[in-house]
Amino acid sequence: MGRGLLFGTAGTPISSKGNDSISGIKRVKELGLGCMELEFVRGVKMGEETARAVRGITKELDIKLSVHAPYYINLNGIGESLVKSRERILNSARIGNICGAKSVVVHAASYQNGNPAAVYEKIKNELTGICEQLKTESVDVTLRIETMGRKSQFGSLEEALAITEVDGVLPCIDFSHLHARSGGNNSHDEFAAILGKVEEKLGRKGLDNMHIHVSGIEYSEKGEKRHLEFEDSDFKYQELAAAFSEFDIKGMVISESPNLETDAMKLKKEYELNLK
Ligand SMILES: [Zn+2]
Repeated sequence: MGRGLLFGTAGTPISSKGNDSISGIKRVKELGLGCMELEFVRGVKMGEETARAVRGITKELDIKLSVHAPYYINLNGIGESLVKSRERILNSARIGNICGAKSVVVHAASYQNGNPAAVYEKIKNELTGICEQLKTESVDVTLRIETMGRKSQFGSLEEALAITEVDGVLPCIDFSHLHARSGGNNSHDEFAAILGKVEEKLGRKGLDNMHIHVSGIEYSEKGEKRHLEFEDSDFKYQELAAAFSEFDIKGMVISESPNLETDAMKLKKEYELNLK
């Protein structure tokens, strides 16, 4: 056991000597973590040459990577905003693919008061087109539509699961966002129910190929306010770790706490205690 579920950081660990991706991957290895998410959140700025170097170091150190696509994506947008959104996803996938990443996390859209069924159809059509384009380019990545922390955003658990009807799409389950949406989703039974819904929709192979975000979180009636460290929040990460081991899930767990690696290691330690 142990290699099935990897824990890592959203970007370069804080304790890394350099703040570039290669230093980050080396630090992830030193910390005994297994993965890292490349944060292209402010734009895809990495070139192909760096991407190839990143791929080399991950192979050498046996660290798995994923990519977080830019925040400024809205597949419910129109005109230039929609064209740019498509480009940002495609470029994240292209560079991520060179890096060896298999998953590209996407914040799909905001509702902008649109009719939910119509917004869903629009996002579905957009994702279908993007996935077809990636296929023609032999870019072998899965787009991970993330569960979001505010109700104004596309990304309830149900939506993130339903949209997997698009070939090439799977969910990124952000447990902290699901907690922030309602104030619920913060106990062993609720975490187990979420994993149960993943299994119901995607089967055992869904649980064997999870992509997860987690952090402490501050929220209001409107949902997410900001990410916190576990210690400063009410998030029951020990109970989440117990649910992970019970369902024997596999894949990647990315810490988005402000202290990145500290909470990644805390969660990993909890998870390993539960395995015994
Ligand atoms: Zn995200």
